[in-house]
Amino acid sequence: MSSLTLPVSALGTPRIGPRRELKFALESYWSGQSSADELVASAAALRAANWARQHALGVTNIPSNDFSLYDHVLDTSVMVGAIPAVYGWTGGEVPLDTYFAMARGSQGGADDATCGHSHHHAGQGVPALEMTKWFDTNYHYMVPEFTSGQRFALASTKPLDEFLEAKALGYHTRPVLLGPVSYLKLGKSQDPSLDPLSLLGGLLPVYVEILRRLAAHGADWVQIDEPCLVLDLDEPTRQALRVAYGMFAYALPKLKLMLTTYFGALGDNLDTAVELPVAGLHVDLVRAPEQLDAVLAKAPSGLVLSLGVVDGRNIWRANLATLLDRLEPVLARRGADHVQIAASCSLLHVPIDLALETELDPELTNWLAFAVQKMAELATLGRALAGGRESVSEAIVDSVLAASTRATSPKVHDRAVAERSATVTAGMTQRASAFAERHALQEAALKLPSFPTTTIGSFPQTSEVRKARAAHAKGTLAPLDYEAFLRRETDAAIRWQEEIGLDVLVHGEFERNDMVQYFGEQLSGFAFTKSGWVQSYGSRYVRPPILFGDVSRPKPMTVDWWRYAQSCTQKPMKGMLTGPVTILNWSFVRDDVPRSVACRQIALAIRDEVQDLEQAGARMIQIDEAALREGLPLRRGEWKHYLDWAVESFRLCGSGVGDATQIHTHMCYSEFNDIIDAIAAMDADVISIETSRSKMELLDAFVSDRYPNDIGPGVYDIHSPRVPAVEEMTELLDKAIVRLSASQIWVNPDCGLKTRQWDEVRPALVNMVAAARQLRTRVSEAAG
Ligand code: GLN
Ligand code: ZN
Repeated sequence: MSSLTLPVSALGTPRIGPRRELKFALESYWSGQSSADELVASAAALRAANWARQHALGVTNIPSNDFSLYDHVLDTSVMVGAIPAVYGWTGGEVPLDTYFAMARGSQGGADDATCGHSHHHAGQGVPALEMTKWFDTNYHYMVPEFTSGQRFALASTKPLDEFLEAKALGYHTRPVLLGPVSYLKLGKSQDPSLDPLSLLGGLLPVYVEILRRLAAHGADWVQIDEPCLVLDLDEPTRQALRVAYGMFAYALPKLKLMLTTYFGALGDNLDTAVELPVAGLHVDLVRAPEQLDAVLAKAPSGLVLSLGVVDGRNIWRANLATLLDRLEPVLARRGADHVQIAASCSLLHVPIDLALETELDPELTNWLAFAVQKMAELATLGRALAGGRESVSEAIVDSVLAASTRATSPKVHDRAVAERSATVTAGMTQRASAFAERHALQEAALKLPSFPTTTIGSFPQTSEVRKARAAHAKGTLAPLDYEAFLRRETDAAIRWQEEIGLDVLVHGEFERNDMVQYFGEQLSGFAFTKSGWVQSYGSRYVRPPILFGDVSRPKPMTVDWWRYAQSCTQKPMKGMLTGPVTILNWSFVRDDVPRSVACRQIALAIRDEVQDLEQAGARMIQIDEAALREGLPLRRGEWKHYLDWAVESFRLCGSGVGDATQIHTHMCYSEFNDIIDAIAAMDADVISIETSRSKMELLDAFVSDRYPNDIGPGVYDIHSPRVPAVEEMTELLDKAIVRLSASQIWVNPDCGLKTRQWDEVRPALVNMVAAARQLRTRVSEAAG
């Protein structure tokens, strides 16, 4: 094989290790079973393996400082000394335990993630920094926290240390830094009058210092990530970029910066980006392939373009011939010295190695590429562009063959699904009557008290439940015994709900491993990996389902469980389903059809399930859309299109039922102000939402003239082990009554209870029922 190649880069690599080595090393350290030295050694071994792997595969721009023990934004805060006073840091090297206190709170171990997003509660100790989603990925970063008068100082030389560590192993790396403007924009302050960007002047000298040290030790290129360049930016932010990169060019005229953008198009920031005095610009040509022409037209001839053509966000194998058809003319136009080939974004967002998936359908496997396979694709592209396609013809032919079998495989394409999708009419997304009429019918049929009480679906997944599931999966617990166990759990949960006086019951979801996986496993068109872990935050990893083909429902998925649960009680039992948008947003989705098409297919399958539940006698069916809000595009201009098809998909699920059947939905996120019209357009009869942590302020969006249907504002923060007192919940409900009409209000927790202990759940729900009863008495006395 020719060693002639264009520069190729992964931009960043998964840190977790192919067998989740980082997670185990961290947990062992946190639990006191291993020492700091052992953790540091495990981390170094993972980095060394990462560098060796890339080198062996033919990646030439090998990154360093892409590794993190927890999160790279947190690393950046530590590097620049942005450590809030509560952590008690007084200068000098930041101790490992201070770092982890920022990540997890000083008591540690209280990580919760019921909702795919997560919250930290550190009991009496120091709380963790807030955590939130990294752009539109399912990776979560620790939010930098700034104060007015914030000082910055170089407090960690991690980028340099890791550059030198790689150098000692024989790798000349391209260090990665999170750029100063994106870093500031990702942060926030308790002081609402503080604009983080105003801190730029104090921050830049720290960046200059670390860049200077890198250059002094031999770094010639540094990758500096400014993903904020794909967002809607105001003029002050663009100006901040000019100031920052102007300063770097002035202070370090010889150091080459690869200004790296990803997750979307530069769009109206393109002019700003190409005018910055940097040596290179990386653009995402997977999310935004259409921007190539504009970038080529505007980029100065001396600018090195890094073309992100291998998908860093998804698991599909590239068609190398198609990519080369696009890349060769670019190369001819700009010259080999001014083009690099790269992943669209860091490979952090994909699983590591497909070779570990020995149990996947081999045909599907042949269509996939995880990080290791993507690095090989990059190397092949680099060689083909430098040495001609002949030098790597076999790899190219293989990729074309894979693409063509995928394009025609009956495993992917199901004519019946396509035909059915095409017959969806507007009428199918409309309930027969308007909410007011439905409401009257439902009220008459259900005879619920005012302020009806209910829960969101799941009850604690105790260690017995998890053990039984694992034993069943291993084959050591027979299917019938497992089922009997689950029935006993369900039965007990129902009996207990009756005892404490809840009005609308749930079966507890004991049979479900995960709210998306449970449905994916029963639908055709989905596959599941054994080792396809992706970092969600810190030491928490997820294995997203792979949605590879047309979706259909071979048979009912939840009806038997619902029927059993309803047979245990006279009270109404909610049918419990996960909605299509959430299933989509938490999966790796096929890239050969628009997301809206895949979503509609899932919606039709859920619609059938809803109708089967109604047929079986369910009077209430909840369709959870936990992830609807987080699927919003990064650019506001794209929101409407997304919300249109997302809302349509939801409505398609629930609109085939009679007026007397009550459709519920649940959403975890709480910022609804800017999408309240879309939420209202979903037209669920009842929505339960998270509000307790904001003390009901979030309900301002739901004032009844904008949101007429029923609402259950969560009154119990399930993300905390704390048991709320009755008065706390009546206080919250009083606030709700001020904002909504009393007849709209349901009483329920914030989210499902699966991550909690029964010891916490029992008293909390007893108190919740008491709060609802007090309110009923009070309101009826006031009325009569
Ligand atoms: N019904 C689900 C549960 O209770 C909803 C979870 C969620 O919103 N993330 O677990
Ligand atoms: Zn939730």
